Amino acid sequence: MRKPLMAGNWKMHKTISESLSFVTEFKTAVADVKDVDILICPTLVSVNAVYNEVKKSNIKVGAQNIFWEEKGAFTGEVSASMLKDAGCSYVLIGHSERRQYFGETNETVNKKTKAALSNGIIPIVCVGETLKDREENTTFEVIEKQVKEALLGFSQEEFSKLVIAYEPVWAIGTGKTATPQQAQEVHAFIRKVCFQICKNLADTIRILYGGSVKPDNVSELMKQPDIDGGLVGGASLEVESFVKLVNYSKNIHQI
Ligand code: PEP
Repeated sequence: MRKPLMAGNWKMHKTISESLSFVTEFKTAVADVKDVDILICPTLVSVNAVYNEVKKSNIKVGAQNIFWEEKGAFTGEVSASMLKDAGCSYVLIGHSERRQYFGETNETVNKKTKAALSNGIIPIVCVGETLKDREENTTFEVIEKQVKEALLGFSQEEFSKLVIAYEPVWAIGTGKTATPQQAQEVHAFIRKVCFQICKNLADTIRILYGGSVKPDNVSELMKQPDIDGGLVGGASLEVESFVKLVNYSKNIHQI
C-alpha cells in the first residue's frame, strides 16, 4: 500500500531561527505519527540547521530546487550531492513557481529528476495546468506531456522511487482548492499515464495533491483513492495547521 506523505513547502519564508523554532515545537507535536511520512522543505539556507534539529525524529527534510550538474562554474546553483550532504532526502522539482519565474521546463525537470535519483534523493516532480489550460479543456493534454517528458528515460528502479505532485496552478496560494472530485479525476489520469510508462509500478507511485490544502479540506481530499498526500504551502507555515494536516485521519471527525 502507498504510505501517505504530507510535505510542507515553505517557499521563501522563515529565517534560520524562525525555522528552528518551528521544528522544535512541531517535532514534539508529531512525535507519535507513524502512518504518515512527514517532510519539510525549508529555504536552502535553513536546510542543514533544520536537518540537525530533526534528524532523530520522524521528520524528513527536503530542498525546493536542485541543479543537475555535479560541480563546476554554475554560480548560485547547488548539486544533488551537496543537498544530500546537507541532510536532504527529498527535493521538489518543477514547482509551478519555478516554471513561471525561473524558466523551468519539462526538459530541465527531467535532468534535475535524474540528478536527484542518481544521488539517492527522492524527487517530488510537480505538474499542473494553468487556469487557461483548464478553461481551454487542455488539462489532460498538458499534464500528460509534463509527466511523460519529466519522466523520460528512467529505469524501473528509478521510477519506483519517484513522487509526483499534482498542483493545479490556479489553486496554488489562491485559497481556491480543486474539489476532491476534480483532483481525483486528474490523479487517476496521472496514474494511467504512469501505467503507460511502467505497468508494474503505477499502483505504487505516490501522487500528492497541492493547491490551498488546509485543515478543513484535507480529509475530503485524502479520502480520494488516488490522492496519497499533500504538498502544502501556506498551511505548513504554522505549527498548529501543519500538525492538523499531518494528523488528518485523526481529525476527520473533529472538523
Ligand atoms: C505549494 O507551495 O506547492 C502550494 C500548493 O501552496 P499553497 O498550499 O499555499 O496553495
